[in-house]
Amino acid sequence: MSKNYYQQEIETMSAEEMRKLQSEKLVKQVKHVYENVPYYRNLMDEKGVTPDDIKGIEDLHKLPFLTKADLRDAYPYGLLAKPLEECVRIQSTSGTTGRRVVAFYTQNDVNLWEDCCARAIVAAGGTNKDVCQVAYGYGLFTGGPGLNGGSHKVGCLTLPMSSGNTERQIQFMTDLSATILCCTPSYAAYIGETLKEQGYKPEDIPLKAGIFGAEPWTEEMRRNIEETLGIKAYDIYGLTETSGPGVAFECEEQTGMHVNEDHFYAEIIDPETGEVLPEGSKGELVFTSLDKEAFPLLRYRTRDICVLSRKKCSCGRTLVKMAKPMGRTDDMLIIRGVNVFPSQIETVLLKEGYEPNYQIVVDRVKNNDTFEVNVEMTNEKFTDKLSEIIAMEKSLANAMKTMLGINPSVHLLAPKSIARSEGKAVRVVDKRKLV
Ligand code: ADP
Ligand code: ZN
Repeated sequence: MSKNYYQQEIETMSAEEMRKLQSEKLVKQVKHVYENVPYYRNLMDEKGVTPDDIKGIEDLHKLPFLTKADLRDAYPYGLLAKPLEECVRIQSTSGTTGRRVVAFYTQNDVNLWEDCCARAIVAAGGTNKDVCQVAYGYGLFTGGPGLNGGSHKVGCLTLPMSSGNTERQIQFMTDLSATILCCTPSYAAYIGETLKEQGYKPEDIPLKAGIFGAEPWTEEMRRNIEETLGIKAYDIYGLTETSGPGVAFECEEQTGMHVNEDHFYAEIIDPETGEVLPEGSKGELVFTSLDKEAFPLLRYRTRDICVLSRKKCSCGRTLVKMAKPMGRTDDMLIIRGVNVFPSQIETVLLKEGYEPNYQIVVDRVKNNDTFEVNVEMTNEKFTDKLSEIIAMEKSLANAMKTMLGINPSVHLLAPKSIARSEGKAVRVVDKRKLV
């Protein structure tokens, strides 16, 4: 059993105690929001709910949802629950799906957020003996600042690299013997690829662990990164709206991420009806911030699709686990009426021995959807013989058809011809003008 806890009492608390703690926090939080956020008070009034109706977690379902549309409506200050004088930080979403939203933090909010990231680093084996290379972007994006703060709390020697400049990443990693790498999985894969090209073998690379998140990635991609870098790769999840990375983190069991549920209460709902679904059901993840002061979102619909599980974990943590999100409700492409998630394409590619360097291009020509997947050949698979390329394209297209139910047209490209991402990868180019 692991002794790698940052806040053991919380991380291994019994289910009843946790629920009690959550209930106490919720009651206070609903009052705080009702009194200080007119936007949410209106939503509660419309539903006929008052703070007195909320006596504990069992009453959470009575509260209205918040959506990204609300955040955009209320931009920038409409959901702020503290005077600006008490706020010390603003962060913003990376704008993957539309206009950015901004989130505010008091010093206490920053502190709790960094604790969450510290839990993740410790779960990945981090101690004050580690050198932690933070290659998430620094700035408005939450990745860099969040892991940076967590790394300090654990007492790691922190390398605040930010993303980009891969040569310099490698130089610092090797010169200063970085043991933990934090970045997006797509950037980790790219750093790995570059190291390999430079002749590094996994055993020459000082890293022992990676904490990768902020975008969807598959199990196959995990194994791929683990092999190239010679590390154990841990998933981390979060979103700006709730604070940033560290809402949930993986332990050594690598079977889902423990939600820091003393701060964020997780529900799974049916995205169509809003009905709360029982444990184990697949649906949309909804979070309630139980103790954030400046930007306390109640029942925020993340649009991430996933499953929660309370199955006992071998690490000893009792925190509920969320499965790897399998995409977002809005990440899903509907192509010729069929639901397609980029993660499905990635799974096929890795199974067929390709690298996860691909781009999906969708267009509409004469009322018909076109569906192209551009994929890089790997060095091993590289050939300039047309007949071989055509055969490989056909075989990949068939594998994708089996997975998705529709036939893409696959184009194999020369190695390195798809632009690499240092932050979140751009997997989809949708050229359809449907409005
Ligand atoms: P944006 O919505 O602009 O991308 P954020 O940068 O706050 O804003 O990104 C949060 C989103 O990133 C999450 O809602 C989720 O879809 C995705 N995400 C974060 N971590 C992970 C992860 N470990 N696995 C899959 N998706 C993730
Ligand atoms: Zn665990």
